[in-house]
Amino acid sequence: MPRGRNLKLTEDPHRRRNALTNEWVLVSPHRATRPWQGEIAPLPGAAEPAYDPSCYLCPGNARVGGNRNPSYAATFVFQNDFAALKPDTPHARLDVGNMDLLVSEGEPGICRVICFSPRHDLTLATMSLHEIELVVDTWVGQFRELAGTKDIHHIQIFENRGAMMGASNPHPHCQIWATYSIPQEPTKELATQANYLRTHSRCLLCDYVAVEQGQQVRLVCQNDGFVALVPFWAVWPFEILVCSRNHMGSMQEFTKETVWSLSDILQRVTSTYNRIFGVPFPYSMGFHQSPCDGVEHPECHFHAHFYPPLLRSATIRKFMVGFEMLGTPQRDITPEIAAERLRELAKT
Ligand SMILES: [Zn+2]
Ligand SMILES: [Zn+2]
Ligand SMILES: [Zn+2]
Repeated sequence: MPRGRNLKLTEDPHRRRNALTNEWVLVSPHRATRPWQGEIAPLPGAAEPAYDPSCYLCPGNARVGGNRNPSYAATFVFQNDFAALKPDTPHARLDVGNMDLLVSEGEPGICRVICFSPRHDLTLATMSLHEIELVVDTWVGQFRELAGTKDIHHIQIFENRGAMMGASNPHPHCQIWATYSIPQEPTKELATQANYLRTHSRCLLCDYVAVEQGQQVRLVCQNDGFVALVPFWAVWPFEILVCSRNHMGSMQEFTKETVWSLSDILQRVTSTYNRIFGVPFPYSMGFHQSPCDGVEHPECHFHAHFYPPLLRSATIRKFMVGFEMLGTPQRDITPEIAAERLRELAKT
């Protein structure tokens, strides 16, 4: 950089630090208009039917493995028939030859599936506010139950939406993976939050939300309980971070009002996403909350991440390859420009 010239975040290639993970993202604003000659994914197929006799999540249908779904009328929770984790696994550590090279640990856990609705054709973006409240109520109930379960120290609720994200079934549903150990991403984020609290005597995300409220440029939408924004360090083109406006650690602290305001934000974020390219928008989303490991976590601030893969149209997705796999993730369109576009669409 020539001496005396300040960095222009709208023009100069630069890297930004993710305050939650301490990782970096490379931003190349000048490349946002380069032509695309790569893969174009097929458009999603025709609209889904309200009931699909071949869907293993629809009410009354049989699942692989022989169980039959009840004729449920709102939400429906069941143990995953092909669970990645089993509750009776020993949590022993194994270090072959004590060489500190071939190290493994048993991972006891519980995997559940939550159907959001009996309707095969609905999504969070098209469900009514009341229907989404029933989903959030179910998450709260599941979180509280699993948090009190032996050998469960962390609860990950997540939704994969769309074939592009590898969702095997369009029926609206999410998964819960409750584990003995705290997974990698929350471990990184808890460490930065704890460090920030030690250094500044304040909560990292409370401070971050205040900065974003002041600058306004990365805000998408908000209500009394939650704010949705494109984080300063976003990697995915239309990534969104949803934070509670008041400090809270987990769904243990939710009230009726919190359930309503989270439902409202989820409806607004997902329907805004669908308006970007005029298609059902694929994404992975999930909540980061206080671990239930018997230790206080004053550093932990409840939030949700939305990671959508689409880049410049309904059929062009972002890939994490080359420099991103071997070096640092990179983006062209700046988080501020993405936020401006989302904010306009969130108003309509
Ligand atoms: Zn279905
Ligand atoms: Zn906080
Ligand atoms: Zn997080």
